[in-house]
Amino acid sequence: MLNEEQVVEVKKQIFQQIEAWPEEQRESARAKIEAMPPEEFEEFLIKNKMIKSGDEGADAEEGEVEGGRCIFCSIVEKKIPSSFIAENPWAIAVLEINPVSKGHTLVIPKKHVLHGEDLNKEVIEFARGVALTLREGLKPKHIERWGHVAFGHFIINLIPAYEDTKLDFPRKKGDAEELKKNAASLKDVFDKGERERQEREKVVVQQAQPSVVEKAPFRRP
Ligand SMILES: [Zn+2]
Repeated sequence: MLNEEQVVEVKKQIFQQIEAWPEEQRESARAKIEAMPPEEFEEFLIKNKMIKSGDEGADAEEGEVEGGRCIFCSIVEKKIPSSFIAENPWAIAVLEINPVSKGHTLVIPKKHVLHGEDLNKEVIEFARGVALTLREGLKPKHIERWGHVAFGHFIINLIPAYEDTKLDFPRKKGDAEELKKNAASLKDVFDKGERERQEREKVVVQQAQPSVVEKAPFRRP
C-alpha cells in the first residue's frame, strides 16, 4: 500500500510524463486520476504495471526483475532514450529531463525496488562516484541528495546547488540539446575518474603480490 506522500509523488510523476500529450487527452486523464480514491488509484497503478501488487512484490525480493511499464525500468533497459552519463551492473545515471538545476541527475537502481533501504551498497557507491563527477565537472557549491519513489521505483536525485539555486524552484523543461551536451561532458569526467580508480586498484593489487608469494609454501601440492 502506498502512503499518502507516495501517492502524491506518483501522481506528480504521471502528470509530468503525460505533459507532452495533446491537451484535451491530457486534461481528461489528469482529471480522472485526480478523482480516483486511493484504493482505486493503486489498482490503476498495478493494472498498468506501474507498481506491483503485494504478491508480486514478494517475488521481486527474491531477485526477480520485473518493471512492466515503469518508466525508470524502461530507461534502465534503454527502451526509451535518456541523457546517459554512466552505468555499472547495479545502477544507471542519467540527467533529469525537468531539472531543478544544471546537472540534476537521477541515479536509477537497475532493480525495481520500492524502498531506499533495499538498495545494495554498490548502488550507493555508484551514486557517490556520480556525485564526485558532478562536483568535478560542474563545480557546484554542494550537491543535494534526494531519494524519491515514482512508479514504485526508488531513485536517487543528485542536485548540484549553485550560488543562485533555489531548491524549491519550479522545474523547467530542460533543453534537449543542452541536456545531451551536458550528459556527454559529464560522461567523460566519470569515465576518466573510473579509469583512474582502476589504475589505483591495479597498483594496490601489484603491491599485494609479494604477500601472496609468501603464503605460497603453505599450499599443499
Ligand atoms: Zn522500475
